[in-house]
Amino acid sequence: NNLPPSTAHFCHVDATAPQPSAAAAKLSHLKAVVLGEALASEDDDVVVPSHEFSRQALVPSMQKYLEMYKASIEDPAKFWSGIASSEFYWKQKWGDQVYSENLDVKKGNIKIEWFKGGITNVCYNCLDKNIDTGLGDKIAIYWESNEPGFDATLTYSQLLHRVCQLANYLKSIGVRKGDAVVVYLPMLMELPITMLACARIGAVHSVVFAGFSAESLAQRIVDCKPKVVITCNAVKRGPKTIHLKDIVDAALTESANNGISVDVCLTYENQSALKRENTKWQKGRDVWWEDVVPKYPTSCDVEWVDAEDPLFLLYTSGSTGKPKGVLHTTGGYMVYAATTFKYAFDYKDSDVYWCTADCGWITGHSYVTYGPMLNGATVVVFEGAPNYPDPGRCWDIVDKFKVTIFYTAPTLVRSLMRDGNEHVTRYSRKSLRVLGSVGEPINPSAWRWLFNVVGGSRCPISDTWWQTETGGFMITPLPGAWPQKPGSATFPFFGIQPVIVDEKGVELDGECSGYLCVKHSWPGAFRTLYGDHERYETTYFKPFSGYYFTGDGCRRDKDGYHWLTGRVDDVINVSGHRIGTAEVESALVSHPHCAEAAVVGIEHEVKGQSIYAFVTPVEGIAYSDELRKSLILTVRQQIGAFAAPDKIHWAPGLPKTRSGKIMRRILRKIASRQLDELGDTSTLADPGVVDQLIELADI
Ligand code: ATP
Ligand code: MG
Repeated sequence: NNLPPSTAHFCHVDATAPQPSAAAAKLSHLKAVVLGEALASEDDDVVVPSHEFSRQALVPSMQKYLEMYKASIEDPAKFWSGIASSEFYWKQKWGDQVYSENLDVKKGNIKIEWFKGGITNVCYNCLDKNIDTGLGDKIAIYWESNEPGFDATLTYSQLLHRVCQLANYLKSIGVRKGDAVVVYLPMLMELPITMLACARIGAVHSVVFAGFSAESLAQRIVDCKPKVVITCNAVKRGPKTIHLKDIVDAALTESANNGISVDVCLTYENQSALKRENTKWQKGRDVWWEDVVPKYPTSCDVEWVDAEDPLFLLYTSGSTGKPKGVLHTTGGYMVYAATTFKYAFDYKDSDVYWCTADCGWITGHSYVTYGPMLNGATVVVFEGAPNYPDPGRCWDIVDKFKVTIFYTAPTLVRSLMRDGNEHVTRYSRKSLRVLGSVGEPINPSAWRWLFNVVGGSRCPISDTWWQTETGGFMITPLPGAWPQKPGSATFPFFGIQPVIVDEKGVELDGECSGYLCVKHSWPGAFRTLYGDHERYETTYFKPFSGYYFTGDGCRRDKDGYHWLTGRVDDVINVSGHRIGTAEVESALVSHPHCAEAAVVGIEHEVKGQSIYAFVTPVEGIAYSDELRKSLILTVRQQIGAFAAPDKIHWAPGLPKTRSGKIMRRILRKIASRQLDELGDTSTLADPGVVDQLIELADI
């Protein structure tokens, strides 16, 4: 574990900043780090928040965090009900019990309830409540089109009007509390409008990312049987026009063949992409949004619902198999999404917030729509592709709207990194103050690039670990509260008790690594898998009884920092050494000529498994044996000889889900040459990369 000392450099050291107290993170070596001494490993690579930042932060020190964290763990009912009652509107308070839970299959059915009996509405809390407190004229949404120069804004009052019109229309066609509504829209303003309109009338939205195939969409429609599907005729993404309505038509035909017919397909005419004359139309079923919705009144009574009534259904991205219909309910999710947003991004009323995720993913639910709007934030909604018309687009948008908080994914960071710094540095970016990352472990080298090049070494990075299932952040830095370690998600959020267990489910203490579980429930936890409570229990609660099992591996270092090592299904066992794919990938990506890497294990006669690495070199770097050797050497130096890949397979691109995650299931098949067992590749963003990889197998 000897990283070259060069990786220890960090620009922003402030020895006077508040330091974590001994209890959670004994940073005894911090002084050595601050003094610039060589570091032993990434565990000692520390970036200290500036005094200036910490001073203004909501949680300014480790000590303050520990106080709040302790309160949240010792008395969760008091902690969360305090926040719920002071920061949200409830038509009626919950009963005597703030929450009730059973996470142990041996004690009966798994059950999680928060604020049961409390009557509220998430849309009311996002809009009406904020307008009542004077935010009516504040910008709720800055919308930026795929084409530079085209944009639009909505204030909180205007947003409420739009939401009410749609809510009234939905009621007019018979959508009632508890009914499912499938939404297949790109990042138009109409997408958050639709989510909020459903929430207003108690309907359960199920947003399907508008990049999924007709088959995947049909599968979801058949599963949740919506009254209405809401879409638009087409969208431009980068230079391409995608005919979404055609995909929906095919999906509706397919669902009808499976016995599920949908009465109404409400279609928004996205004129910049396609005119209505050129849109295929099924009379009687299809309705133009613009023809009906604006005719409805701009106010609409709220449907008051129980805290435990469903808010939405969202199918997970499917990196590991058949998508699961994750169900979130109203009260707990609302409180959790809003509170995590506020603290993890150190939110201030003056912030302009941009999350690059699509509302088709959980990140777009909790951190484009609900979390920010519950806080009355100004949110940027971007329709296009982050590298169109060129790789500087993100920073163009940051400067244009004076974005202060920028939240994105490692896959985008790595791709922008590959495109070169000049696309970043020609923009000012001086409005930025907090950065965020989500989706997979961020490699320390990508972290550094985001920190140094994008953030000008001044913005803390919240590397937020969480899942569709958890509703909101679970392990995340609170910017300003403690030093960060590039690549570590650091410490648990309030109320979260992460535990690392061994194969037998025994909790491990101190420095350790194993399976990441969570003890006790939290308000944002999912309550079931739609229509399949048994799968819910089997997948998440049976593997380690008494705990929620995350499916991820995790290492806790000597200072108590958490390092996510990837999914446990992806752990590779080489001669008895358990190696997380994330660690090897991180080492490879730290090589200056490696743009991206994905690692899988394949069977090996002697070692049990051996490491097989797919590597995409940086633009302009050719495949060569020399590069191969130097990549392997990097892994040997950074992790150890046992982790050195036996094979480097050149990859012009990697198979990814549409949310940008690498599908290792497919890579494993390519690596072991089981080419006839590739399985379902329909959820891949670009199925073509699979053929390219097969061609390059023996080079
Ligand atoms: P499926 O469950 O269908 O396979 P998925 O797990 O990719 O899909 P999500 O819920 O969107 O669907 O992703 C959550 C997973 O993403 C986590 O379990 C973890 O593996 C990974 N992840 C998310 N954020 C981070 C992070 N900050 N650091 C490390 N890993 C992360
Ligand atoms: Mg998952």
